[in-house]
Amino acid sequence: MTAVNRQIRLARRPAGEVRAEDWGHGSEAVAVPGDGQFLGRTRYVSLDPAMRGWLDDRPSYLPPVGLGEVMRAGSVVEVVASNHPGFTVGDHVVGAFGVQEYALSDGKGAITVDPALAPLSTYLGALGMPGTTAYFGLLEVGALKEGETVLVSGAAGAVGTMVGQIAKVKGCRVIGIAGGPEKCALLTGELGFDAAIDYRSEDVRKALRAHAPDGVDVYFDNVGGPILDAALTALALHARVVVCGAISQYNNESAVQGPSNYLALLVRRARMEGFVVFDYARRYAEAAAEIAGWIGDGRITVKEQVVEGTVDDFPETFQMLFRGENTGKLVLRLT
Ligand code: NDP
Repeated sequence: MTAVNRQIRLARRPAGEVRAEDWGHGSEAVAVPGDGQFLGRTRYVSLDPAMRGWLDDRPSYLPPVGLGEVMRAGSVVEVVASNHPGFTVGDHVVGAFGVQEYALSDGKGAITVDPALAPLSTYLGALGMPGTTAYFGLLEVGALKEGETVLVSGAAGAVGTMVGQIAKVKGCRVIGIAGGPEKCALLTGELGFDAAIDYRSEDVRKALRAHAPDGVDVYFDNVGGPILDAALTALALHARVVVCGAISQYNNESAVQGPSNYLALLVRRARMEGFVVFDYARRYAEAAAEIAGWIGDGRITVKEQVVEGTVDDFPETFQMLFRGENTGKLVLRLT
């Protein structure tokens, strides 16, 4: 009997929030690796807010996922067959293998990881893309200096938990913005943030005046929208606003809500700069090694939310990001 590869494909371009009907659930025969290829069996699939942008037919830093194509996703696979000299059966490999049970790869962009050094899921989180995003966004784009005040939104998420903790390692004062009392308690408790603002129940501008009376030196923005606008009212002189993402705008059916308070950049002689983590690809190993050291000596706590299921659970799991139902890095473990 031919083995079957279950897959999630893009069936329709979503308008606004992604719906179940936008996805296609299907299967095909498991492929056989040719020369210079290996076959991987998926163990963990990464769920990322950026995936929402890839569903729209508009130019971005990556081309849109085509209609009918397997959904693009980062994942960890275990090599089950190989005709590639660099990958051996039993190896665990991270790459953009898509939302499917089996993936054929020529090895481009694939990185072998060691499950003895860290849980496989962590290579999609703290030691993977979100961790390196926090690291380079904060230290390079944000040009963080010891003793500064850092504000981060989406603070209880994959990137946000890392931003706040890296800033603490660097001797900074850290304020996090997140949704709900549990997430805020996590930030100021286990994760060591100095203050947390629950944007669902608090007036963010007022809370910022209380927590950062002298202003914020680095604002690391993961959410955009009204929270970005509030943060702009709290900038210190020569502040840096790091535009990492804007999840509050990703499901918009109308135009993106821009920052009406942008003149604060002029008044505070501040700058606002976007970045894409892929631009730092050649330095991923450097960041991962330093982050691994901080995890090893207990200065960084890894937060992950692992959902157990099959590829068919991908659509529902993806929506958790937009409902704020995840804490830390959201991954789907294929059981
Ligand atoms: P998270 O783990 O932070 O998950 C998303 C979180 O966003 C939710 O848990 C929720 O938390 C919050 N959220 C959802 N909707 C809203 C809303 N309307 N307003 C405010 N908060 C909202 O995701 P990631 O850490 O993976 O990604 C964080 C950001 O970083 C995203 O914008 C992403 O696109 C961006 N990113 C950018 C990269 C780059 O290279 N520039 C690379 C990687 C990520 P809560 O309960 O607090 O609302």
